[in-house]
Amino acid sequence: MEKLIIEARINEYAMREVNSKVPWTPAEIAQDAANCRAAGAAIVHFHARKDNGAPSHDAETYGECISGIRAASDILVHPTLGFVALDAAPQERVGHVVSLAKDAARRPDFAPMDMGSTNIDRYDAAKGRFRTTDLIYKNSTATLRHFAQAIAGAGLKPYLVSWNIGFTRQALAFLELEWVARPAFLLFVLTDGEVLAGHPGTPEGLDAHLNQLPDDPGLHWSVCNFGGEMLGLVDKIILAGGHIAIGLGDHHYGEFGCPSNATLIAKVAARAQTLGRDVATPQETREMLAMDR
Ligand code: ZN
Repeated sequence: MEKLIIEARINEYAMREVNSKVPWTPAEIAQDAANCRAAGAAIVHFHARKDNGAPSHDAETYGECISGIRAASDILVHPTLGFVALDAAPQERVGHVVSLAKDAARRPDFAPMDMGSTNIDRYDAAKGRFRTTDLIYKNSTATLRHFAQAIAGAGLKPYLVSWNIGFTRQALAFLELEWVARPAFLLFVLTDGEVLAGHPGTPEGLDAHLNQLPDDPGLHWSVCNFGGEMLGLVDKIILAGGHIAIGLGDHHYGEFGCPSNATLIAKVAARAQTLGRDVATPQETREMLAMDR
C-alpha cells in the first residue's frame, strides 16, 4: 500500500476556550507546523489569524505565515483560499494565492477547491435552533473552472475538497474533462457538531463516500472531521488506503486531554506504524502527487 500522507489542520478559526494550544500568530503557526512535521505530517493547512484569534484576511499575513513555515521546516504548505468574502469574484478569491506563488519564499504548494456549494449555517442541537439561516458556501462550476486554471497556471497543486457525494461527482467530472490533472488529491470533509453539510464523522458516513468512489489509481483521497474527533476513524482509513487530515482546527480534543497538533499527528503516525503502513515525507508526497516542478 502507498505511504500515508498526514496533513495537520492546525487552526481553521478555532478559539482557545477548551484547548489553548491552537496556533494563531505567524510565529506560532510556523513553530506548530515544524513540530507537526517532526511528528510525521507532510502537509500543513492553516488560516491566518490576528493576535486575538480573529480571522485575518490580509495577504501580507499569509505571506508572513508561509515564509515562516518554509524557514522552519520542509513541510508542504496548504493555505485556505477563504480569506476574502465568500461572495467575492473568483479572480479575487484565488488572487492572493496566485500572487504569493510568484515569490519563492512565500509560495504555497497547494490551493484548495471546494467542489460544490452548500449551506453552512450552524445548528445548535442542544438549544434546538440555527445560529444563522442564510449562509451559503457558493462555488459555481464556472468559479471552480477559473480556480482550476488559475491554480494550475500558478504551478500549484489543486487540492480538491468534497463535502458530500455530489461534490465528489463534480470532482470526477473535472478529472474526466482534464480541467484538473491526475494524479488528483481529494479530501472528504466529514462534519460532526454544528455544521450539517458533510456526512457524519462515523464509519457509515465515510463508507457512503467510499462506496461511490471509482477505483482510480490517479485519485488519492484523504479524510478530515470538522467539528468532531477523528482518532476513532484512523485505523479504518489507514487500512482502506486513504490519507489523514487532522488537527485542532477541526476539534479541540478536550476529551483526549487537550493535546497539541503535533501530539495528534504522532498518534496517527504511531497507528500507521502499528498497522504496517509507512508515513510519507513531504518529498515522497510530492512524488506521489506528481508535484515536482
Ligand atoms: Zn481550512
